[in-house]
Amino acid sequence: MTAAASSETEATDEAEEQESAVETARRQLERAAAHLDVDAGVIDRLKHPDKVHQVSIPLKRDDGSLEVFTGYRAQHDSVRGPFKGGLRYHPEVSAEECVGLSMWMTWKCAVMDIPFGGGKGGVVVNPKELSETEKERLTRRFAEELREFVGPMKDIPAPDMGTDPQTMAWFMDAYSMQEGETHPGVVTGKPPVIGGSYGREEAPGRSVAIIARQAIEYYDWDLSETTVAVQGFGSVGAPAARLLDQWGATVVAVSDVNGAIYDPDGLDTDDVQDHDERPGMVSGYDAPQKLENAELLELDVDVLIPAAIGNVLTVDNANDVQARMIVEGANGPTTTAADAIFEERGVHVLPDILANAGGVTVSYFEWLQDINRRQWSLDRVHEELESEMLKAWDAVRREVDDRDVTWRDAAYVVALERVSEAHEIRGVWP
Ligand code: GLU
Repeated sequence: MTAAASSETEATDEAEEQESAVETARRQLERAAAHLDVDAGVIDRLKHPDKVHQVSIPLKRDDGSLEVFTGYRAQHDSVRGPFKGGLRYHPEVSAEECVGLSMWMTWKCAVMDIPFGGGKGGVVVNPKELSETEKERLTRRFAEELREFVGPMKDIPAPDMGTDPQTMAWFMDAYSMQEGETHPGVVTGKPPVIGGSYGREEAPGRSVAIIARQAIEYYDWDLSETTVAVQGFGSVGAPAARLLDQWGATVVAVSDVNGAIYDPDGLDTDDVQDHDERPGMVSGYDAPQKLENAELLELDVDVLIPAAIGNVLTVDNANDVQARMIVEGANGPTTTAADAIFEERGVHVLPDILANAGGVTVSYFEWLQDINRRQWSLDRVHEELESEMLKAWDAVRREVDDRDVTWRDAAYVVALERVSEAHEIRGVWP
């Protein structure tokens, strides 16, 4: 390789590594727009967020010292209803990342045809370095800083990486205390005792399993002969793996941050404690073989489910992935360049905005339950989620069949058609 060629490769690799969520989201939007006759101005509008709020959160640490954290809330689009999306506590949270993730929420809600737009926020913090009481104070102050921008009819946060039902309970309590009345509908993903929905926690994993099952059927594969590897045995990956296992698939590998466990005959997914139940127990499990996390992504399996963090499938490993199908449990696990490689190699990628959309769909159910002050049974949540997922699946499958496009492009086409039509009908004010 010549020096010039080598530095060009390096430059490409570097650009690839640094692709931000917002860049990926914009490229995906452009691809979908090419299939539709949408006003260029509307597309331009959709490349930009409506608003991005940045707040400072002073936190009194347990040792008495004061530390200031930065928080964001990106609000991408609300043409179909209030902004909706998670709050993430992670050291790499940035305004740009929140914008990209909020764009994905717009498409996710639209593909599911639920009456919400897209939002996402977070705090630049490593939650593992905070005590429980510090996390509570941080969350309450964050809620207060965001109070004027959120609300059951304005913007409805939910859990995401590093946050959980308890975080949502503190957020809801802080908001309600200041407003002088209880507003369960200001956030979703709460514990059921304060207006949370049964089945919300496992919902993203359940939808991943449903979409995997539908896609397996679409390609005439036999679920009972399908092998599955799951990266990230946590809040999304564990329920997805357990359901697929229950439905007859063979889950051969799962992982947590420390590493993967592998059994070619299939793991007993109920026996492995997930990362949330007991951190560290996945890699500590007594399995026939231990693997590095990167090796799990390249295993010879039928279905790969990346359910941990973004940008794990890149130009560096896309050619080594042996799975025939990828079902995205995490948000944005595949970079644009990796997506192109998968398309060329005929690897089917079932996109995040469809596959993990069970989370926001049960959030919508929760919001309805909060407004009506009437809780649904777990059976009802499962039934309605199944039916919403099948409706979205059918709409996306139709685009795949009619336009001969990838699953991601098809999902974007469905979403963009709904969002752009709403923009065109509502028009621009003033
Ligand atoms: N954080 C989840 C997601 O990325 C759920 C958002 C919600 O329920 O509002 O889809």
